Amino acid sequence: MTIRTGLNHLFIPGPTNLPETVRQAMNVPMQDMRAPDYGAFVLPLFERLKRLFRTASGRIILFPGSGTAAWEAAITNTLSPGDRVLMSRFGQFSTLWVQMAERLGLNVEVIDVPWGAGVPVEEYARRLRQDRRGDIRAVFVTHNETATGVTSDVAAVRRAIDAAGHPALLFVDGVSSIGSIDFRMDDWGVDLAVTGSQKGLMLPAGLGILGVSERALAASRTATMRRAYFEFADQLAMNETGYFPYTPPTQLLHGLARSLDRIEAEGLDNVIARHRVLAEGVRRAVRAWGLELVAESPALWSDTVSAIRTPADVDAREVIRIAYERYNCSFGTGLARLAGKVFRIGHLGDLNAGMCLTAIAIAELALNAAGARLRFGTGVAAAQEWYAGAAAPGLALAAE
Ligand SMILES: *Cc1c(COP(=O)(O)O)cnc(C)c1O
Repeated sequence: MTIRTGLNHLFIPGPTNLPETVRQAMNVPMQDMRAPDYGAFVLPLFERLKRLFRTASGRIILFPGSGTAAWEAAITNTLSPGDRVLMSRFGQFSTLWVQMAERLGLNVEVIDVPWGAGVPVEEYARRLRQDRRGDIRAVFVTHNETATGVTSDVAAVRRAIDAAGHPALLFVDGVSSIGSIDFRMDDWGVDLAVTGSQKGLMLPAGLGILGVSERALAASRTATMRRAYFEFADQLAMNETGYFPYTPPTQLLHGLARSLDRIEAEGLDNVIARHRVLAEGVRRAVRAWGLELVAESPALWSDTVSAIRTPADVDAREVIRIAYERYNCSFGTGLARLAGKVFRIGHLGDLNAGMCLTAIAIAELALNAAGARLRFGTGVAAAQEWYAGAAAPGLALAAE
């Protein structure tokens, strides 16, 4: 048995670190999910998640499963085989979403843009204007492309849809943004938003969470794609009183309640601001190293994950291996076409400046051991300068 002493420094963009209080909150005996008082425990969770999604008029639906299950539920409940949908591909997650849509029998119109760019708003606008008959049933946006560290402008897509006077539904993958990057379901007219429990919500994987607008609910009543387990109507009927048609992951729901306590105590706006400040420290370190982010421009920088290009002669897989084996530190790998060229620092969830400095310091060690010639401390110092000057809300301990 290999003994790995100390903490495993977990800097992947999900699963993220669990606050100890959240982990403890899940350490409860099994419960009767049909008990008379169980509904009273569950009901407030829906209201609180609505506030996290920033929706007043939408509904929250929970399925046991990861974020990908929520994608599938979103599609199968609201669309019909052969429906035309508009999607774009600019990283591994948006690519997988396209793949799923194709497998489920949608007629997918895909726009490929370079990995590092964001959602092609102008091209979306053009295609929506051209579609005078309103054939396109839904427009998909990956809000935060976790593979490339790119955050796209969802509000701009909504404006493009409205400017074209187009009736398409707006679907958003918010798996690595909701609860950490500004996301506004109602203000942006999002019809279906999906997330998973293991990213901004600081929980284990296992809950797929959907925000469903009234329009999407109306669409679900006529959509003919087959679904059984993932049927919205079955969930909603039981959810009215705080129950589920099938066994819910009760421990996860206790963790969720505790996690929402923390987010609400810190304040969602402060949580978002904290992510921005922490991310900026990492970005300044990257700049000090003379390395590049995959994200093409500052407007696209993600506050939850930085995808960093290694120098041409340095294999990013080596950086990740060395960080793990020598320093007990996990960085995200370069996915698909970015393999070997990119490593990612996940900076979301239960995180503070000291943790980010640890990630930066270990990245310097691993980058150097893998052959990059960086001066030790350059990235750390750049981040320290930033953190020292940043009067960031939430960087101090938030009261629980
Ligand atoms: C993590 C992630 C997913 C996939 O979620 P799973 O929970 O692994 O199924 C989808 N989209 C984005 C943007 C993600 O970051």
